[in-house]
Amino acid sequence: MMIVMKPTATEDQVQAVIERIQSCGARAHASRGEEVTVIGAIGDREHVARLGLEGHDGVEQVVPILKPFKLSSAQLKPGERTVVEVDGRRIGGEHFSLIAGPCTVESRDQTLTAARIVAAGGASLFRGGAYKPRSSPYSFQGLGQEGLRLLAEAKAQTGLPIVTELMDARDLEPVLEVADVIQIGARNMQNYALLAEAGRAGLPVLLKRGLSATLEELLMAAEYVLKEGNSDVLLCERGIRTFETAYRFTLDLTAIPVLKELSHLPVIVDPSHAAGRRSLVEPLSLAAAAAGADGIIVEVHPEPDEAICDGPQQLRADGFAEYAEKVERAAAVAGKVLSNTPA
Ligand code: PEP
Ligand code: MN
Repeated sequence: MMIVMKPTATEDQVQAVIERIQSCGARAHASRGEEVTVIGAIGDREHVARLGLEGHDGVEQVVPILKPFKLSSAQLKPGERTVVEVDGRRIGGEHFSLIAGPCTVESRDQTLTAARIVAAGGASLFRGGAYKPRSSPYSFQGLGQEGLRLLAEAKAQTGLPIVTELMDARDLEPVLEVADVIQIGARNMQNYALLAEAGRAGLPVLLKRGLSATLEELLMAAEYVLKEGNSDVLLCERGIRTFETAYRFTLDLTAIPVLKELSHLPVIVDPSHAAGRRSLVEPLSLAAAAAGADGIIVEVHPEPDEAICDGPQQLRADGFAEYAEKVERAAAVAGKVLSNTPA
């Protein structure tokens, strides 16, 4: 249920409604908008209905949330978009974010060079995996804690906040020391214990869509993070499996406007893992930015031909600045401004 408060409702009235919701064992999530406060009551619908919240002081309306996803639903924040702030860089609303860096942290030189180049080229955040979800257990699995240390050094040198993947809740502590955004990879989208752990960690979470997940499943996964009281979730479209074999995955561009209809959360697009091929990354990035994505997460490597993983899809670092300029112009078509310095 969604309890829409009157524009004139006082904080005491909001608190009274929250306490009433909690009194029946349900959870209350208040979303304080510029005009009105909306309180989501998550729990047994019949119990909440029996509370008679319509009659409470300050309550305008009680509306059922019809979708199975609640806290991520656009209904919870009518006419409003969530803006996630990472070290002063904004993502969502009119703010566009360019997250760039190598697939994986390979060495000090590779990581610091990539970070310097993408920072100079206008990136908003730096990406790089220290723990890598590889299809084969015999492939390179990431540098682990040593990789995290290199990411910290990249941040110290460039000031760029770090996006890095958490694959196992047992690595949460070291990841938290370095990450500014926790990435949950496509293969872990439905690892609900991990999602809840990431939700409790308190950092923004970039949640990638599973290889064959529907948008509703993606939003239900986001719900696991939001339910822990973490409202900073970035939804990421990264390509899905279709019958097409001419490229790696099919980038679902339609997901951008549809997710925005369904949810108030920012939508990020990963053209690199969708395409699997460098030549496709720029056109897909431009399309996504022009279609209203709130950001792009893209792989960039100083020497992609030498890369340990995903070499064929990583952009060459020396072309990054030119690429970033084009993406910025495409984002402007959708009315968005690149946010790459602390506000
Ligand atoms: C990644 O971004 O490093 C990655 C492995 O992507 P995905 O989980 O989308 O495959
Ligand atoms: Mn990769």
